Amino acid sequence: MRSIDLIVVHCSATRCNQRYSVMQLIRDHADRFGFTGYHYYITRDGNVTQTRHEQLIGAHAKGYNSRSLGVCYEGGLDKEGTAADTRTIKQKRALLALLKRLKREHPQAQILGHRDLPNVHKACPCFDAKTEYQDL
Ligand SMILES: [Zn+2]
Repeated sequence: MRSIDLIVVHCSATRCNQRYSVMQLIRDHADRFGFTGYHYYITRDGNVTQTRHEQLIGAHAKGYNSRSLGVCYEGGLDKEGTAADTRTIKQKRALLALLKRLKREHPQAQILGHRDLPNVHKACPCFDAKTEYQDL
């Protein structure tokens, strides 16, 4: 068993008015990494798909993959392509429920956003995940 002490929240960095389905994600990551880098993916309709076994190391947080889980929501850019919290109500609900469950299963894990890791120079996940989920 690998031990998980970080749960890293991401966005797909796609526009809120464009669909980015789980199949597209799987295809794009297969091209880039040979497997899906995130462990969970939440589409705009609030559907949660496990895209990688938790015991398998992902590809989503450089330098932290071996000890973390990656959770990604569809979106993160507004219609103009600017970083924005585009989570739908259904996505927020699904993300909260998923993080609660993951925190229960990995009590020692800290939940944070991709941008909260050192040396990350992007806005991902485009909201303050660390603060929003600090009490889970
Ligand atoms: Zn990210």
